[in-house]
Amino acid sequence: MKLGLWRNRLPILFAAALSLAGFTGCQTAPRPGAVAPRRGDEIVVAGRFIHTGGARVVTWLDPGGYDGYRVERRFSPLDQADWQKSKAAVQDLETPNRYNLRRAGLTDAEVERVRGGGWDLPTLRRVVDQFVLHYDVCGTSRQCFQVLHDLRGLSVHFLLDLDGTIYQTLDVKERAWHATTSNSRSVGIEIANMGAYGRNEKNPFAEWYTRDAQGTRLTIPARFGDGGLRTKNFVGRPARPDPIAGVIQGQELIQYDFTPQQYDALIKLTATLCKALPRIKCDYPHDAAGRLIPHQLPDDQLRGYEGVLGHFHIQTNKTDPGPAFQWDYVIGRARKLMGLCPDAALDRRGAALLLQER
Ligand SMILES: [Zn+2]
Repeated sequence: MKLGLWRNRLPILFAAALSLAGFTGCQTAPRPGAVAPRRGDEIVVAGRFIHTGGARVVTWLDPGGYDGYRVERRFSPLDQADWQKSKAAVQDLETPNRYNLRRAGLTDAEVERVRGGGWDLPTLRRVVDQFVLHYDVCGTSRQCFQVLHDLRGLSVHFLLDLDGTIYQTLDVKERAWHATTSNSRSVGIEIANMGAYGRNEKNPFAEWYTRDAQGTRLTIPARFGDGGLRTKNFVGRPARPDPIAGVIQGQELIQYDFTPQQYDALIKLTATLCKALPRIKCDYPHDAAGRLIPHQLPDDQLRGYEGVLGHFHIQTNKTDPGPAFQWDYVIGRARKLMGLCPDAALDRRGAALLLQER
């Protein structure tokens, strides 16, 4: 008797449960007005949100982001920001847009299709094969965006701040202006760091790095306020306490290392880009023995190179990301995140560098 009663009620209970769970009849599409969830770790590639596995990403769509699409200056007084006034005030600003269309490798019909914004991931996968690393010599991402966007009329897809926040300023589909001959085929990132200098060259280290009881700490000069860092009261420390010496383009240079938070975010972003755009191989330019090539690549090698590289691999007048940058650590860790077998030599050297960090 009891069982019979329950059997009669089961369909009703089942329908009620479905209705509570948001299912009504055969409707499967989200309801009008439903807000699609975002976790805050997504980058934008050809209009898609792609997770980075936990890096903090602030896109140009988000409050506090840096919008590379706007033609106004971001940091001038608002009544001076429009394009006409900006153009009159800043000699280096030549065009309202600081980016343009990736055209290399596309047929005329494809150019027609994508010029209105219609990029898809498969097309982008065909034309992007390099990820170019820069240091910004601005010290913070806010300052870097001001210099690129407001003063120089340049652009880059990503800025990586001292606290490990990644700012995306443009969809990866755009041709950003950061690496001359590689702009059409690359994605770029400016990593906040004051750069590398010759031993006898004037450098800004005394202003940006001080010592406290815990070791070396970053000090943002008072004229930059709080530096615009997303993490309030962030205390930044270079991954290694002393300047690192090394030779780039045949010159001996010294540079303070990047912060552990920057390495962590960059590793996640590198793995994400190499997965999303698989022509970018998760590797760096190296010789037959596996050692980093510390200078510009000859033209034919650069033309054939697909992977992660430094700005100095592209131009002889550049030294970024500098001698402190830990290539083995970044590439080795990114390969692990991708589920690839880490190259044995990379793994050994990456581990050695990690030990030095402690
Ligand atoms: Zn650069």
